[in-house]
Amino acid sequence: MKFCFATLGCKVNQFETQALAQLAQARGHVLVKADADACILNTCTVTSSGDHKNLRALHKLQKEHPRAVIALCGCFAQTEPERAAALDGVDIVCGTADRAAVLDLCEQAVQNQQRVCAVTDISQRRDFEPLPAGILPGHTRALLKVQDGCDNYCTYCIIPYARGHVRSLPPQQAVSQAQRLAQEGVREIIVTGIEIASYGRDLPEKPTLTDLTVAICEAVPSVRIRLGSLEPRIVTQVFCDTLRRYSNLALHFHLSLQSGCDDTLKRMHRRYTCAQYLDCVQRLRAAFPTCSITTDVITGFPGETEDEFMQTRAFLQQCAFASIHVFPYSERAGTVAAAMPDAVPQDIRACRADELRGLSAQMGRDFLQQFIGKTIPVVLEHGRADCQPAHGKWHFPVTLPPDSGKQGDEIMVKLTGIHGNGLDGIPIA
Ligand code: SF4
Repeated sequence: MKFCFATLGCKVNQFETQALAQLAQARGHVLVKADADACILNTCTVTSSGDHKNLRALHKLQKEHPRAVIALCGCFAQTEPERAAALDGVDIVCGTADRAAVLDLCEQAVQNQQRVCAVTDISQRRDFEPLPAGILPGHTRALLKVQDGCDNYCTYCIIPYARGHVRSLPPQQAVSQAQRLAQEGVREIIVTGIEIASYGRDLPEKPTLTDLTVAICEAVPSVRIRLGSLEPRIVTQVFCDTLRRYSNLALHFHLSLQSGCDDTLKRMHRRYTCAQYLDCVQRLRAAFPTCSITTDVITGFPGETEDEFMQTRAFLQQCAFASIHVFPYSERAGTVAAAMPDAVPQDIRACRADELRGLSAQMGRDFLQQFIGKTIPVVLEHGRADCQPAHGKWHFPVTLPPDSGKQGDEIMVKLTGIHGNGLDGIPIA
């Protein structure tokens, strides 16, 4: 059969789609860009715009693959199966569990044209579904999903309802996957999950993310290990003292903040204060002096006054982030915050978001400035006619002249100037 895959949303969705594509090929199916027999759309529902993107992606697939069986899986399908199943031209609806089963359902539907809704109650799942990690086409980096689900229930977030309770991949299986990726020539592994700070909480031995990171760093010392988004509670002194010993750990920590105002954090049910968060930032900087610290912030959360917003703005400056992902608050049906009073008008949410994006751009330039003139090792990505992209240990991309070397090579470069949200560089012999 001919399969086509499309993905929306986070790194976990991207990981799961690449795994499904691998499993499809292992069954002898081929991947196509047009006129497929079956299309699988891995959906997202983290914001209302996520839902719009799902529909646009669905319509694009239906246009490019008019005869195909269409399967929707992922977080939108999990949280709104009836709505998903009612969409025109959708034949199969699967949720966020039993990912591999969607291939079976597609194979059957191509034979018998049957429409199936196979969404189960994700809150009942207690086992982690191991899926094969693999390298994204044209990339030198691979995602490694080690955890699923979340039990934090931040008041604005739909994810615990889409992904269920915390479930973890046992450390030995994660290490085996990492070793296989290293043998396949992967130069960087991004350790990802829905809430990786909760890693191991469900496993008998209760291994922590720190334990897992040590095991992976030691198992593949020539591969760079980059951690996905972190919750502040994981950044303890033990985390820093232990991981600073590993030269193959990426010097980039994405430490989720959401607000820089304690009252807003309380309404969000985030489990730290600004002072505790700042302690984590200072702990990271003490252990990893040049590291990039990036974050996420929501603007216009219910009840956010101008004063609370200004507190957030000041706190962001105090933390001196390398980059800030800014999201205007988006109501998600079924979340606690969606029923909260004192909604902030959409235009004010957007205006505050624009202001913080401007701040992020300035802080980003200030962070990059310190690297100009420095020499760093980078891994070369797939070259383009006009340049060769590359990545170092930090969060920023490096742009090199075309034909600077072979994809996957690690070379030394001198950084010469700011280029977008990254830096230009020249290879040095
Ligand atoms: S930690 Fe909070 S924001 Fe992150 S996935 Fe869990 S509930 Fe959502």
